[in-house]
Amino acid sequence: MSAPDGGRPAINPSDAPPAGSRSAASATVGVAVLGSTGSIGRSSLKVLARQRERFRVVALTAFGRQEQLEAQVAAFHPAFVGLVRGDAAHGWRSGVQCLVEAVTRPDVSIVINGIVGAAGLEATLAALRAGKRVALANKETLVMAGELVTRTARECGGEIVPVDSEHSAVLQCIAGRPGTGVARVILTASGGPFHSWEAERVRHATVAQALNHPTWRMGRKITVDSATLANKALEVIEAHFLFGLPYEHIEAVVHPQSIIHSFVEFMDGSVLAQLGFPNMELPILYALTHPERVADDGIVRFDPIAAGPLTFEPVRTEVFPALALGMRAGRTGGSAPAVFNAANEVAVAAFLEGRTPFGRIAEVIAAVLDEQVVTEVASLEAVLAADSWARRRAGELLACS
Ligand code: NAD
Ligand code: MG
Repeated sequence: MSAPDGGRPAINPSDAPPAGSRSAASATVGVAVLGSTGSIGRSSLKVLARQRERFRVVALTAFGRQEQLEAQVAAFHPAFVGLVRGDAAHGWRSGVQCLVEAVTRPDVSIVINGIVGAAGLEATLAALRAGKRVALANKETLVMAGELVTRTARECGGEIVPVDSEHSAVLQCIAGRPGTGVARVILTASGGPFHSWEAERVRHATVAQALNHPTWRMGRKITVDSATLANKALEVIEAHFLFGLPYEHIEAVVHPQSIIHSFVEFMDGSVLAQLGFPNMELPILYALTHPERVADDGIVRFDPIAAGPLTFEPVRTEVFPALALGMRAGRTGGSAPAVFNAANEVAVAAFLEGRTPFGRIAEVIAAVLDEQVVTEVASLEAVLAADSWARRRAGELLACS
């Protein structure tokens, strides 16, 4: 199956003002933060606390962690609070439907989607349908339903702006240069905690070792994805859909310092890159203000001496098979990226619960991808059918290993 929608980017890197941008006379821009208690959610609230003149927090949602959510509510006084799981008190909304309620509110212009995994999909679609800007950290959403999500954005006037640092870097390199031919994108990867380990040691890595990321402090699922390099595969597929690039034009390179967040090569051979210390507050701020930039005293300023020597290495694909598996799923298209994502989510959860060894994550993904019958996934129902088949099959394989 050919790459869906190749050449039709989800983002228009023009200087047009963002959806939900302020007119000179208007008040602050309303923001909903989904997954406010997570790593991205907490970083978002730090940025929003410093940017109160421009943005106001209108809605917060979380999954459990009620006390932390209560503290956030006390600090930001949002009009809407959703607790997906837990006893919602204080007039808060509860249940999964609270996500769609939060993002479709008329006073919300920008939705920061910091939910982990497939659970963020319906909220992304609802926000785009309602014409909102989605500042998207929840990359699984775009991987499992890239065609549907980008089509919804185009047809309904919504907008996707990446929060993922690599894609923010690419966007910052191409923003304001509409029509400039991008020849190649090179996504950087830290290589994770095992980037120099020999293969057999990696296969038997413990949960604590996998969670010990050298450069980024993130949620548990993405930290394991960074250790298997499944995260980079998700990001290659994310770049394909965001920027409308064919897979042959997207590469990955290991850069252990995580200072250069990605490179863009243009058709004349010139290469631009975006740099900064590894901290998500800058890409979150840019996702809120793109294509403009605003001053922010809280952003850690860059220091080339402190950044130290910058080094690059090829990806050791034989040690980290999840990267090639995911890239193949991306090129296959149709339901394959959704199947890759779902099998990975189930295998990572099993690893984190101590039910399967680290090396088994990629094996389970490979087995589920081999068994799948690739289908078109033009509708939400088709995406969810592929997702649930892959979850069931991955669960069965894990139960008998
Ligand atoms: P996290 O585990 O720290 O936080 C996840 C958040 O989602 C929590 O607030 C949790 O309450 C909520 N959540 C979990 N399950 C949910 C469900 N079923 N329904 C509704 N809400 C649910 O994860 P994170 O590190 O913040 O990552 C969030 C997303 O951002 C992921 O897709 C990740 O790949 C992406 N991302 C994270 C980083 C980072 O630095 N943390 C960087 C780039 C991209
Ligand atoms: Mg990233």
